[in-house]
Amino acid sequence: MSKDVTLAALLGLLVLPLLLAPFLPPRDVGGPSTLAPEMPPLPYKTYTVHEGDSLAAIAARHNVPLSYLLASNPTKDPDRIRPGEAVVLPHGGVVHTLRPGQTLDDVAATYDVAVSSLEWRGGPAEPRAGDRVFVPRPATVPHSDALRLGGGHRNQFIWPLRGRISSPFGWRTHPILRELHLHIGLDIAVPEGTPVHAAAAGRVSQAGWSGEYGILVVVDHEDGYSTYYAHLSRTTVTAGQYVEQGQVVGLSGNTGLSTGPHLHFEIREGAVPVDPQLYLP
Ligand SMILES: [Zn+2]
Repeated sequence: MSKDVTLAALLGLLVLPLLLAPFLPPRDVGGPSTLAPEMPPLPYKTYTVHEGDSLAAIAARHNVPLSYLLASNPTKDPDRIRPGEAVVLPHGGVVHTLRPGQTLDDVAATYDVAVSSLEWRGGPAEPRAGDRVFVPRPATVPHSDALRLGGGHRNQFIWPLRGRISSPFGWRTHPILRELHLHIGLDIAVPEGTPVHAAAAGRVSQAGWSGEYGILVVVDHEDGYSTYYAHLSRTTVTAGQYVEQGQVVGLSGNTGLSTGPHLHFEIREGAVPVDPQLYLP
């Protein structure tokens, strides 16, 4: 064999993998990167539901606050979990699964903790929708309020607060304007300063003064619904913020065109106001 032939063969061997590269199976892009420092896993276990289990029983048996368990498993109906289902059992906090568009600032506000206390795994970039974020020692957990106000997987909406219904949805003579008009919401009489909870998870689209509504919060939900909370004394959220079901969005009041302290609550489907009592538990 001549020198030239040997050289050509060697070159061929070097070039061959480059030529084949586009046809080779892609390298596994998942899994731990060898460059990233070793991080301990987030502090939770996966528990498999047994016959006769409830979330409350699991929480008590494992010494986990029920509110942490609810927040870590938001899609589960607390009364109806099935044997074989996997439940996230958090240790020392809440394991929160990020929703589309929900930021770390939103999560920190939801649980009333510093954003710097949040933990996640998977690299230096911000976590994305579906990623799990650990919230150590949350100061508040809206999911337990949601349960008290009628939450559970069966109900899309919960009561924003509990109180006497002073005026239902429908036609009435306006108490101030003295003319027949359609009351497009539900009035719930409560003392000023009563916490008002988001009826469903979603993004705040308005938070501030809005004419006859007084101080108003509007939350847009994923499925074209929105909810209105009017005559507030103050808001506790800002426009653009993502809130969980049960999260406090403001305090009730008597602002705008209002005859006394109450919450005016609306549910709209698209632009159309619907009777909230048909949607509430
Ligand atoms: Zn009203």
